[in-house]
Amino acid sequence: MLAVSIHGASGRMGKALVGAVRENDTFKLAAAVASASDSRIGQDVAVIHGFPYLGVPLTANVPETVQKADVVVDFSQPYASLQLLRTCAQQRKPVVVGTTGFSAEAKAEIEEIAQTIPVVLSPNMSVGVNLLFALARIAAEAMPDADAEIIEGHHRHKIDAPSGTALRLGETVAAARGTTLAEAGVLSREGFTGPRAPGSIGFATIRAGEIVGDHTLLLATGTEHFELKHKAFDRKNFAEGALRAALWLPGKPAGLYDMNDVLGISG
Ligand code: NAP
Repeated sequence: MLAVSIHGASGRMGKALVGAVRENDTFKLAAAVASASDSRIGQDVAVIHGFPYLGVPLTANVPETVQKADVVVDFSQPYASLQLLRTCAQQRKPVVVGTTGFSAEAKAEIEEIAQTIPVVLSPNMSVGVNLLFALARIAAEAMPDADAEIIEGHHRHKIDAPSGTALRLGETVAAARGTTLAEAGVLSREGFTGPRAPGSIGFATIRAGEIVGDHTLLLATGTEHFELKHKAFDRKNFAEGALRAALWLPGKPAGLYDMNDVLGISG
């Protein structure tokens, strides 16, 4: 069994990770870290998230939790994540980082740290989404003249559009065609638009109910339609991807890896 320590264990992704580890016989939860100011420090991490007692208290002692782990999984905040990475480097422990929002300076430090330990860093740990990007590139290269449309749906609370994943999908298609999204993207349409511009990459956005995240790439010629579709139902999706990375990482040479490396697909 692989001992995993969760950093950011009190948060939403922490809950998803505790749930995913409980259901996976390959892993045992070695430790769970929250910020020192968390009022639940000392309480059982499974119980605070509504699961049966696990015997793993929430702690703020990072060095101790890193020591207990074969691999560390982090979904916290950039500052806390960097401190964790420094501790992992001191203890030579592999670490999977799902935290987002690092500054360019922080990313440079992560690259430096990754010269001493293996690190997986990915802003989207969903296996399906990473596969969607890889397959989108192949499809866009194979159907260079097809009309490319990206249709995305999210819950009613989302405040930006198109989603980051939809934009990344558009960038992938654009790059496969030797252009950029800034040049080819049509992020929305309204009124008298005129006919479709050849080579453009269109976007359509749905905001409804509690949709977790739906993304479709449609490639349409006059004679056939090809669709790649991904639907996320649960945050656990990211946790399962992170655990897949956690299983893959120990024993790898020091370096900065992403989910494409974990999944064995070229980016
Ligand atoms: P969240 O609910 O706000 O959880 C963040 C957690 O980090 C909180 O439990 C917080 O604890 C903890 N934390 C803050 N400072 C800490 C410290 N010094 N030491 C240890 N833990 C500390 O956020 P979330 O939705 O779980 O997301 C966490 C991160 O993962 C975000 O950056 C988010 O964008 C990213 N994310 C990535 C993916 C992916 O696929 N890569 C998917 C979803 C989310 P306190 O409450 O005690 O401060």
